[in-house]
Amino acid sequence: MTDLPRHFRAAESALWPPYSSLTTTETPVVVATRDCRLQLADGRELIDGIASWWTACHGYNAPAIAQAVRAQLDDMPHVMMGGLAHPQALRLAERLRALLGGEFARAFFCESGSVSVEVALKMAVQYWLNQGERGRTRFLAFRDGYHGDTFGTMGLCDPDAGMHRRWQGILPQALVAELPRDEASAQALDALLAERGAEIAAIVVEPLVQGAGGMRFHSPETLRRLRALADRHGLLLVFDEIFTGFGRTGEMFAFQHAGVAPDIITLSKALTGGTLPLAATVANRKVEAAFLDDDPARALMHGPTFMGNALACAAANASLDLFEQAPRLAQARRLQSRMEAGLAACRDLPWVADVRCLGAIGVVELTEIRDLKALRARFVEHGVWLRPFGRVVYLTPALVMDDASLARLMAVVRDVLGSGAP
Ligand SMILES: *Cc1c(COP(=O)(O)O)cnc(C)c1O
Repeated sequence: MTDLPRHFRAAESALWPPYSSLTTTETPVVVATRDCRLQLADGRELIDGIASWWTACHGYNAPAIAQAVRAQLDDMPHVMMGGLAHPQALRLAERLRALLGGEFARAFFCESGSVSVEVALKMAVQYWLNQGERGRTRFLAFRDGYHGDTFGTMGLCDPDAGMHRRWQGILPQALVAELPRDEASAQALDALLAERGAEIAAIVVEPLVQGAGGMRFHSPETLRRLRALADRHGLLLVFDEIFTGFGRTGEMFAFQHAGVAPDIITLSKALTGGTLPLAATVANRKVEAAFLDDDPARALMHGPTFMGNALACAAANASLDLFEQAPRLAQARRLQSRMEAGLAACRDLPWVADVRCLGAIGVVELTEIRDLKALRARFVEHGVWLRPFGRVVYLTPALVMDDASLARLMAVVRDVLGSGAP
């Protein structure tokens, strides 16, 4: 490339950027990635503190994943799944079932997290329809939740605080409750379900960490309460582990901290180690049983064109090999203790409301961030890539991040936040 653009200015470009203005957005252009670093077109290098929305769990350009994708590219990049199957998808489904354990039975593949949640919603409604129950068409979701950007998933997000609040009144909205963080809120939820339970197909929650809605944590006990409430009111329980899955919280899956499993789980983000788009909706035996039927009218009516893309499944299988071969969970837990130590000093700043860490997630919550754009730019000036939103500065580094890079990252966070209220 001779005419390398050094900077992307939305106002002068043909490219439509996500979540941002078409007139004022300016972003760096990245030309290469390596380990935990982004190489910019202007020659600078940034330490990536968020691993491309926490997908690149093994760091960038993991050789084993690249090799698996190259080999798959030579054999067969893609084949339609309608009426056909292929070894990489068959193997990946088996491996996810084994990893998830317990009652998990069957994986449906699609290309993005949002769509995997849509599939979970469809599965849940059809679970009831297939058993002759027509009235269960709504969902129960939670304050500060985030489940995606498509129409169905926007209806599950927090309607007041979330990024899709402008759509209030336009989309079918889920019932939104407080998470049962204590006995009192569990009783309030119990009462709501006693009243409205018959309309509800499923309860949908991000287990332990609500990500894009504000990086808020809740306890394993909250998940046990949700499992008990779902059982008591005969509802399906969906865990959206698109953020938390694949080691991010220090266990392979967040639900494993709680010892209770959902009926349906959604996975994406780190599924392919941050290389290719892929997502899975995995159902347990109970959900599967409602579809074990030879009447075509009872089949799940979903089938994306690029469902189970062979390159993406090859990448996911290679990524799971790395989880088997390398101590990723121990690395995540080590990141937790290092971030707890390295971010603690931020707690003393008057404009910091909270500092919290779980696995490879470190969060500094401020009382407010007045100028997000300026704060983001300062991090880049200091050679790190972080993308604070709302009131939070968060770190979700690659699970393999080396000590020196992490130390540098946290020093920049301390220095930038320490230099004045952002
Ligand atoms: C990112 C995310 C999604 C949406 O996934 P996309 O691939 O961006 O569609 C849904 N749920 C959670 C918890 C997420 O973190």
